[in-house]
Amino acid sequence: MSPRGRGRPVTFDAVARDRYLTAVAAGLPLADAAHTAGITPQWANRVAATDPAFHTARQLAKKQGKQARVEALPHDEYRYIHHGCRCPDCTTAATEARTARRHRDDPDTPTANPPPPRQVIDLPQHPAHHGPSQAPLLLARAS
Ligand SMILES: [Zn+2]
Repeated sequence: MSPRGRGRPVTFDAVARDRYLTAVAAGLPLADAAHTAGITPQWANRVAATDPAFHTARQLAKKQGKQARVEALPHDEYRYIHHGCRCPDCTTAATEARTARRHRDDPDTPTANPPPPRQVIDLPQHPAHHGPSQAPLLLARAS
């Protein structure tokens, strides 16, 4: 069993697996991690599907990688909101961004978009003696 369509032989030995798992745990996307280990992402998936030990190791590495990616994020409003960071940096950034948004939505602030000016528009007129609007007039004349 070997992947076709690639010009190089696949060696996914212990060293390459270790390199792959280390890369995944460091937060690299799976495709990049596979490239680092000299294999295709498809091959890594196939090994994971047939080798329970590798599958488990990769699941753990993916979990660590996800955490690593969060750790690599800057401390800002995004991290405050999406990752629950309550450090001073994130809290300040979130507070300032919220305040800025409130000011922007405040109608008294000059930066707010003014409502469009009111204007008289011409409604389509029904020709005389047509349409329901003539009915009350006719009734009034009859009485
Ligand atoms: Zn933070």
